[in-house]
Amino acid sequence: GTEDSVHSFKAADLIIERSQTPKARPDQTNLVFGTVFTDHMLTIEWTSTGGWEEPHIKPFDNLSLHPACSAMHYAVQLFEGMKAYRDADDKVRLFRPMLNMNRMAKSAQRACLPAFDKAELVECIKKLIQLDQEWVPKSNSASLYIRPTFLGTEPSLGVKKPSRALLYVILSPVGSYFSTGAKPVSLWADSKYVRAWKGGTGDCKMGGNYGASIYAQYEAVDYGCQQVLWLYGDDHQITEVGTMNVFLFWTNEEGEEELSTPPLDGVILPGITRQSILELTRKWGEFKVCERHLTMADLCCALKERRVKEMFGSGTACVVSPVGRILYQGENLHIPCQEDGPQLASRLMKELTDIQYGRTPSDWSVIV
Ligand code: PMP
Repeated sequence: GTEDSVHSFKAADLIIERSQTPKARPDQTNLVFGTVFTDHMLTIEWTSTGGWEEPHIKPFDNLSLHPACSAMHYAVQLFEGMKAYRDADDKVRLFRPMLNMNRMAKSAQRACLPAFDKAELVECIKKLIQLDQEWVPKSNSASLYIRPTFLGTEPSLGVKKPSRALLYVILSPVGSYFSTGAKPVSLWADSKYVRAWKGGTGDCKMGGNYGASIYAQYEAVDYGCQQVLWLYGDDHQITEVGTMNVFLFWTNEEGEEELSTPPLDGVILPGITRQSILELTRKWGEFKVCERHLTMADLCCALKERRVKEMFGSGTACVVSPVGRILYQGENLHIPCQEDGPQLASRLMKELTDIQYGRTPSDWSVIV
């Protein structure tokens, strides 16, 4: 197809310029997410006339952009979020990186940015991580966050397909999820703001989706909640939690034990963690696993009838994050956990991190 025959950059053509001034690495124990970056970055430029240029790895530095740059004016922009983990043998591992590349390619298509060879980008990212490998925390719970970014750099103000683009990747060591991940989060559920809509870009990882969500996040905090539970439609469908997918473990209307998450109907970001949880639990075969619409009315009814076991968010940042409380229509809904805490969330946390950190052998874990 067109994708395979696309003229792409190649990892074999990488031009590497090493930093002459390596930075001191920070204390791993109190890292604030996304504030510290490694010594190098990957950059790859594209033009409509010349296609992709050779990929470069060079010292981490500011970008120089034309002030009319289409990423700045019209949000012709997208990104990815993935992690590298250090295993007990000191090998560095990625988790299902081709799934991130597939999602990135889909976002690029929607943004009218050029196609690229996804496997070649993974190879370039591996080379970047190898060069900065000392920055991958020596820890069984911290990791190196990877942020591929793709910008339209069209140097003119026309609203059109960019004739220039810049793909780059930066790396940031991040702390342990244990510090925040285990405590149940509180959510503000209100239909006042909408994260995504049918026909929009909510199923793509475009910066505009996130910039537009910040205002609602602060309103949630004003209401004493930590994150937004994003609702959709007049029937208040439950869609996502902050920047996580959402799961409900419950007894459904038919009396069956079921793990549910909303279907990928256009308003849901197709999370890699979401997909992995669906695949794992379907393999266990211990309860029904379902992609279905869930409304606030479904949840309220199930809470009243004591059919809710657990509710949790899922994402690369903290793997799974239990939900403890939802503020909805002026009422606090208390979400139960199973006895002794959230059993399914804890089990998934262990199974997934065991794979990510190489403690359980799996072809989901790719050595760098
Ligand atoms: N939903 C949204 C809106 C997100 O930004 C993310 C983070 N990428 C997720 C869900 C979770 O996706 P993943 O499991 O791939 O991190």
